[in-house]
Amino acid sequence: MGEAAGGWDCLVPPGLPVLLNPNLMSAREPARAVTTHPLFCEVLARIWRERGREVLIGDSPAGAVRGLRRVWEATGVAEAARAAGARLVSLETEGSVARPVASRFLNEIRLTALADTAAVVSLPKLKTHFLTILTGALKNGLGLIPGLAKAEFHRLAPHPDDFAELLVDIAPALQPAFTFVDAVVGLEGDGPASGEVRPFGLVVAGANAAAVDIVLTRLCGFEAEEVPTVRLSLARKLAPPEPEVVLLGLRETDLVFDDVAAPGSLWLRHLPRPVLRFAGKQFVIRPAVREEACTGCRACVESCPVGAARMEGERAVIDPAKCIQCLCCYETCADEAVYLRPSRAARLYYGFRDFRRRWRDRRRGT
Ligand code: SF4
Ligand code: SF4
Repeated sequence: MGEAAGGWDCLVPPGLPVLLNPNLMSAREPARAVTTHPLFCEVLARIWRERGREVLIGDSPAGAVRGLRRVWEATGVAEAARAAGARLVSLETEGSVARPVASRFLNEIRLTALADTAAVVSLPKLKTHFLTILTGALKNGLGLIPGLAKAEFHRLAPHPDDFAELLVDIAPALQPAFTFVDAVVGLEGDGPASGEVRPFGLVVAGANAAAVDIVLTRLCGFEAEEVPTVRLSLARKLAPPEPEVVLLGLRETDLVFDDVAAPGSLWLRHLPRPVLRFAGKQFVIRPAVREEACTGCRACVESCPVGAARMEGERAVIDPAKCIQCLCCYETCADEAVYLRPSRAARLYYGFRDFRRRWRDRRRGT
């Protein structure tokens, strides 16, 4: 990364420590492309350290319920912080401050108290997401909310469109000073924890988190209408429909990825509502627990907002009748004991999608 326009010091308010907020979702190694790469954190930490700033690195990931240090070590961010002279902070123990929000779901959120004393720089990972289609800048703001309050959001707004509305409602309260998206290597398909590693070779950065997500949506080849948070951000004028993009060392063609594999849930959004209601009942993907892989750590139970995950003896089980498919357990389980089990209709769809992908690759000769 070269010198940013106007200099790095212009990107964040002067005199404050810089709080880097990567997506550390759960204790998974960097090569899985589920979490922001530690080198990405290290490079940005070094840049501000060289300018005399104190640099903190913190996130409140779902996997924190099983020990934050384990997440820091597995994701490589502990080593990155040591190398750059940055300080790792636990957002679970730094206190919180209330911010009012205008929303039909809640009146206020509590975010880390560091938001008042440090300049937040958000470092999301570019990934597709089964629930929100894309996880980028707006969704990464959830990492500033300590503890399990974020899981509660799924209970308040279980439908994906309602959840997206809630995310857009709280976005102004979570707006970082600047966002740098780790799109060097991202994840496509059924993210945010599964899916396939996809090299994009890009860093997407901007001061307006909603505008950054619009750009990410375009470069993945998705329509704004298909990504509910982007659709709502545009409707509320949180960002211009055509954000100005300055290319540093790139050509326009470097930004075209029209073959990014969308999550399996995307096609449902193109159906008329009555058909959607019917299809929604057939096309179900539910989390389930692989008994032999479960270590009985209880992380999924503690992260479940509706009590659908519970322990039966030493192993976790999920009650499908109670489950609202928020995927918190799936994101939390670092042992990959929680997996997504598709219904028959969903398996048929995936079979068709894999066939289409093989056919496309054959035609391209790859
Ligand atoms: S499924 Fe088992 S290993 Fe995974 S989070 Fe739940 S209790 Fe822990
Ligand atoms: S079982 Fe998992 S997916 Fe279902 S509601 Fe609980 S945390 Fe969400």
